[in-house]
Amino acid sequence: MKDINEIRADFPILQRKIYGKPLIYFDNGATTQKPRCVIDRQEEVFTEFNGNIHRGIHYLSDASSEAFENARETVKSFLNAGKKEEIIFTSGTTGSINGIAFSFGERYINPGDEILVSWLEHHANIVPWQMMCERKGAILKVIPVDDSGEIVLSEYYRLLSPRTRLVSVTQASNALGTVLPLKEIIAAAHAIDVPVMVDGAQGVQHGNIDVTDLDCDFYVFSGHKIYGPNGIGVLFGKEKWLTELPPFQGGGDMVDKVTFEKTTYNELPFKFEAGTMNYPGAICLASALDYLEGLGRENIAAMEKELLRYATERLSSIKGLKIYGNAKEKISTISFLLEKIHQYDTGMILDKMGIAVRTGTHCAQPVMDRYGIDGTVRASLCFYNTKDEIDSLVAGIERVKIMFA
Ligand code: PMP
Repeated sequence: MKDINEIRADFPILQRKIYGKPLIYFDNGATTQKPRCVIDRQEEVFTEFNGNIHRGIHYLSDASSEAFENARETVKSFLNAGKKEEIIFTSGTTGSINGIAFSFGERYINPGDEILVSWLEHHANIVPWQMMCERKGAILKVIPVDDSGEIVLSEYYRLLSPRTRLVSVTQASNALGTVLPLKEIIAAAHAIDVPVMVDGAQGVQHGNIDVTDLDCDFYVFSGHKIYGPNGIGVLFGKEKWLTELPPFQGGGDMVDKVTFEKTTYNELPFKFEAGTMNYPGAICLASALDYLEGLGRENIAAMEKELLRYATERLSSIKGLKIYGNAKEKISTISFLLEKIHQYDTGMILDKMGIAVRTGTHCAQPVMDRYGIDGTVRASLCFYNTKDEIDSLVAGIERVKIMFA
């Protein structure tokens, strides 16, 4: 196992200074920084073997196609999916959810049907379902959360009904850090034959994810939040669903035979991959996943658990600081507010100290409404962060307090 200095040396951006101060990057929930191997792989794609995939008989096209399909295999292993045909590349979590919402809506949804989401969802797991409900005359139902930021399971069981067609929940809240009890959620839905989609955008990078063990029907995530490039994402779907669902985009590559009278679609997974895919993104995402496997996902989870424990303890000791989200199971994300100091002011002053945090509603406005606030300061930590950096955050917050005293 690499030590923390070796790990940090793998991420070139962590060596830079902001306003003359060492960068302290606590905005990993928004996007993660990239290890050298991902950066190098991108250069390699464009200097060694770039050619459009699945289309040519020439050397470069073959090499790119092979690397792209190997990337699919890497994602399949990372998620422990049953088959590589169940791995669809998309533009990201948002792209994946919109795709499923469209296809599922077209195939299965009728007026009066219900879709269940939780109160903790990112807008990406709310709006596509609202759009689908509007198109199909369906109804969106919401599982409430309690004061600690946990979903109220008894209410979920009550909301599940013969009208429920799909449950779509996040693995972890980007705003509060809450980890959802996915096994219970999935078991209850399956007991009445309702499929479950999991938004893994804030879950996949924090530990082991096993879609076979979890038994979810769909699982989605974004490359850029797991140390890979932007513009690439994944949609895992069980083969039986992907076989039945219609494609969400039409175009090149996703077809079998095209005539003006009738078009037939390609086999899985290509049926859902229309047009030139972001193969450089997929190839570099695979490098990021390999890097994480190299560190050991259990090691990553342990490091982040300790960072969360330490940061929670240190931040809780600051007078006038309130943490939002105190669920028993959390990812290493802490949302907080300082008494009488607006989150933007806190964030802007921390920035001048080289500390990057996120402020605002975190694209999760309903959660903020639930707590009657208009946003929080969010520190989202990951394995390359250190306790020294947490100490600097605490010192920075104390300075913000003095400036506003
Ligand atoms: N879901 C969750 C829980 C998220 O945190 C995010 C990104 N903040 C998204 C979905 C959307 O991801 P993307 O913007 O990469 O599509």
